[in-house]
Amino acid sequence: MRIGAHVDPAEPLDAAAARGADAVQFFLADPQGWKSPAARPDAEALKTSDVDVYIHAPYVINVATLNNRIRIPSRKLLLAHARAAAAVGAKGLIVHGGHVNAGDDIAVGFDNWRKTFAYAEKEGGLPLPILIENTAGGDHAIARRFDNLKRLWDAVGEFGAGFCLDTCHAHAGGEELLDIVDRVKSITGRIDLIHANDSKDTFDSGRDRHDNLGNGKIDPELVVAAIRAADAPAIVETPGGVEGQTADIALLREKAGS
Ligand SMILES: [Zn+2]
Repeated sequence: MRIGAHVDPAEPLDAAAARGADAVQFFLADPQGWKSPAARPDAEALKTSDVDVYIHAPYVINVATLNNRIRIPSRKLLLAHARAAAAVGAKGLIVHGGHVNAGDDIAVGFDNWRKTFAYAEKEGGLPLPILIENTAGGDHAIARRFDNLKRLWDAVGEFGAGFCLDTCHAHAGGEELLDIVDRVKSITGRIDLIHANDSKDTFDSGRDRHDNLGNGKIDPELVVAAIRAADAPAIVETPGGVEGQTADIALLREKAGS
């Protein structure tokens, strides 16, 4: 069982050591900004480390939207992050499913995802797996509810898209955690990574507020069961810095008995 944490990008390997983590996830650029990522001086150290590296794409990216002033830059920025993530030896680039605006046809949003992969192929291909993550909120989300996830996968499955399951987002988004891995895998065929987070909010609240495991509204046993069933690495994206995340990682290891 590989368990890690979302950490500050400054010194990710030190942050992993401080938390007893086998894996780290971090941003390569401002998550709220459109700047392309810069090369990292620690790229070689990250590449050769025993610690698994995952990169999270900026939140501003929305490749699904019908607004082409967001969609086109999103596509380009996603590819730039994919290349930069591969340069640090990352195992995957996590990106949110995105959404369309109210009144827009969501079918076009799924097709925009297909076009994103087609664009990347035309530009020389993706150098690492893109892991599409389920999200918690909104009425027009691409990957909140699994009926839409099914439609997304009909559009992108042929490109070898990967999936990242966030337990907080599933709970807050209105998908039960019991047997969730089977339901996801029946659609995607794969789960590449689990974001193991508790939720401060109630089921189907649509709110995205992560909490430390056992501290929120989710039974930690369900999170452990999902990690086990997925047989995938897990990353905690939880508050409390070194102390909070170390405790979350320890809790997962203890409950998983590994
Ligand atoms: Zn997440």
